[in-house]
Amino acid sequence: MDVALVSVGDELLSGDTVNTNAAWLGERLTECGSSVERVTVLPDRIADIARVINEYAAEYDAVVVTGGLGPTHDDRTMEAVAAAVGQSLETSEAALEWLDDERDYARSDLTAGTADLPAEARPLNNSVGVAPGCVVENIYILPGVPEEMQAMFESVASEFEGQRRHVESVTLDEPESALVDRLRELEARFDVKVGSYPGDNVRVKVESTDPTAVEEAVEWIRENGIEAST
Ligand code: ATP
Ligand code: MG
Repeated sequence: MDVALVSVGDELLSGDTVNTNAAWLGERLTECGSSVERVTVLPDRIADIARVINEYAAEYDAVVVTGGLGPTHDDRTMEAVAAAVGQSLETSEAALEWLDDERDYARSDLTAGTADLPAEARPLNNSVGVAPGCVVENIYILPGVPEEMQAMFESVASEFEGQRRHVESVTLDEPESALVDRLRELEARFDVKVGSYPGDNVRVKVESTDPTAVEEAVEWIRENGIEAST
């Protein structure tokens, strides 16, 4: 499943907040067997959010959006998604009932607009915070607060399951430039995707849906390279 991530928030663009949600989702979606193809950070601006979501929903199997839920003035995501899918925003009775039954929040305790979702959305309950997320068409809308986002993602994680990818890394004590031919050969010999990430050493990441291919490729690069001492 090809997935695009959209992170909404002025504070992400200005660097006030580090976009840990995209990193976390990238890792979890990959573990689930999905492939993250895009990460886009957008300001709290309805027209921008609607335009990008519209484009990504057409291009990818799923779009996962985080941030900008709830009734505060700078939380515009639901409005933007409703515009993107051509639906009105309506108060979700199902979301209100869940908040009342499971969390003891009466309708009168909630700020108006808290449970407003695109008319045909499936609500996603927020077990950590308050404002619900939702799924509409192939668009998943999750909160910005990392703990809330993570809990809500887990409630839909099974919808992103694909063929499991097996991953192993080997750290080599050689300059990356010296490894070019061997990394190319590694990918040619075995049915694996190879990543190379330089730092103090070079981390070579081997990935495949076939665990045997990963095992054999790792063995080959260990035999043909100088492994860093740990
Ligand atoms: P709430 O319903 O509490 O208003 P929300 O879904 O509207 O939450 P935001 O208002 O966008 O989320 O952000 C809430 C908090 O989560 C802020 O402190 C924000 O910096 C943080 N946050 C938002 N997006 C991200 C992100 N992509 N990575 C890490 N933190 C984030
Ligand atoms: Mg908010």
